[in-house]
Amino acid sequence: MRLEHRRREPAPGVFRLVLPLPFPGLDRVNAYLLAGGIDTTLVDCGIYYPDEEDDHGWADVEAAIGACGMAVTDIKRLIVTHSHIDHYGMAATFVERAGCDLWMHDAVDDDLAAYRDPEGTRSRLRELFREHGVEPEEVDELVRFEDWRGFVSGLVEPDVKVSGSEEVEIGPRTWQFVYTPGHSRSHICLASLGDGLLISGDHLLPTITPHIDYRRGAEDDPLGDFLKSLDVVEKLDPRLVLPGHGRPFEEGAERARIVARHHDRRLGAILQIVRHEPHTADEITDQIFGTTLLNFERRLALGEALAHIRYLARRGEIVRTQRDDGTFVYQKASRRRRDEDD
Ligand SMILES: [Zn+2]
Repeated sequence: MRLEHRRREPAPGVFRLVLPLPFPGLDRVNAYLLAGGIDTTLVDCGIYYPDEEDDHGWADVEAAIGACGMAVTDIKRLIVTHSHIDHYGMAATFVERAGCDLWMHDAVDDDLAAYRDPEGTRSRLRELFREHGVEPEEVDELVRFEDWRGFVSGLVEPDVKVSGSEEVEIGPRTWQFVYTPGHSRSHICLASLGDGLLISGDHLLPTITPHIDYRRGAEDDPLGDFLKSLDVVEKLDPRLVLPGHGRPFEEGAERARIVARHHDRRLGAILQIVRHEPHTADEITDQIFGTTLLNFERRLALGEALAHIRYLARRGEIVRTQRDDGTFVYQKASRRRRDEDD
């Protein structure tokens, strides 16, 4: 066990479990225990540590649940907001030890494919980066991080797949699934409309914006999906947001607007860069995120820039052409002369 666990109850019968992560930039993830007798449910379950330490992180899961006065076997259902390692990593071990069902969104198969076939994922990403201007010798360094199997205890499939808008009764509350793709294609939130709670996974976080990645062959327009999902949450106007990282916070609608504005500004910055001459995604990434990133940061930055570029291209704001060497470049779409001169 690595953390001191205590009882945190942001709403009656809703417990926040804080679990450790082995990443310096992101060292905690939240899971939520929803008390409800035979319907007692855990939402997300933390990461699986690739080393033996504390039974791969299990000791923290057990202790965090114990601090709420419950045992693992009291949990009858595990809902996972999305398949990233910090939310899904321990799922296979958890459902086995708790003897419970796993619920996830029905698009999860696409997301789990990255664990099933890391080499395929890596080679697609290699090709994507190459044709977007990344130097061949850099590409291998960047795709190195694509194998995350060491951080999941197993590839467990959901017993129940939801599509969003289904309801589930847990204790005194009725929770509604809310489909919120963007950060991950199969991301779901859970809303208790009766008292304005929203378990937001990574979709809406208090101090950081979730990574929006573009991978060809997976999500077509992840930033478009994400912005739509922010609208959905803004309309829900939650009273208290229970996020996947950080502390619960109020004014969720305002936070959704702030995050949308952040992406608007980034889209504007890209339009500015490609206003007068074409640029590769690699060059756009350098201009937006700088040239001093570590490899892992730069891989994320490229994915993020590509998601924004994709968004603009799909809406006809920028056009893509191919150089003689096969590299794609992007330029602002020419409109009426007047527009160009403004
Ligand atoms: Zn996360």
